[in-house]
Amino acid sequence: MELFDTHCHLNVAAFDPDRATVLTAARAAGVRRLLIPAITRAGWDGVWELCAGDPDLYPAIGLHPVLLEEHDPQQDLPALEDFVRAHRPAAIGEIGLDFQLRELDRARQQALFEAQLALAEREGLPVVVHVRKAHDAVLATLQRYKLPGGFCHAFNGTLQHAARYRALGFRLGFGGMLTLPNARHLRALATQLPLSDLVLETDAPDMSGAAHRYQRNSPQWLPEVLDVLAELRPETRETIARQTTANALAVLAAGRTPP
Ligand SMILES: [Zn+2]
Repeated sequence: MELFDTHCHLNVAAFDPDRATVLTAARAAGVRRLLIPAITRAGWDGVWELCAGDPDLYPAIGLHPVLLEEHDPQQDLPALEDFVRAHRPAAIGEIGLDFQLRELDRARQQALFEAQLALAEREGLPVVVHVRKAHDAVLATLQRYKLPGGFCHAFNGTLQHAARYRALGFRLGFGGMLTLPNARHLRALATQLPLSDLVLETDAPDMSGAAHRYQRNSPQWLPEVLDVLAELRPETRETIARQTTANALAVLAAGRTPP
């Protein structure tokens, strides 16, 4: 089994004491590939260094909407462009819109999101989007850019939203929240969507599943998400593992190859 954790913040300080051990445990559990999205400019180098030399660790570089106050768009956006041109990450991310946190200015989030989508379009790179209570705004924005596709992290929209993401070449991330017994909406989505839409993710160190509530989440627990999908869906565990990994690789392969 070769799972792909399509959203894992293995670069953050929570993993400083034992990052290599966590990665070894994840691989022992069948998690071969991880996509590691940066959230601020200060994190880009760390993500880059972590992924360097391991072709199964995929770096994504971006400016996260929730950390709006930490970004200086005048400085950070040109720096992002330089970084992307110099290093060629697997994706631009984590970017997006968060309308749940009311203190985050929506106009500034929108401007930051659009600038990063324009960069992704110019560079032909997929994107990793964070969306909370903002699927209609995110989809309306994505529709204005020619992107190779991307990942919608921690998807929690409707079947209609899913269809619109699908049309834009996006796959939808499902993680530990799916393992919570009362996650009715997520479980219905995970049952009703075509398997070709789905990718697995942990969002470690956040969003721990049912077996690890209030603990630091870890990529080694990704198979627990797979187990729930296998309970809910008609396909076998092996088929779901194979197809979700293929879905993730298809998004990353859709990026334009550099000249
Ligand atoms: Zn994230």
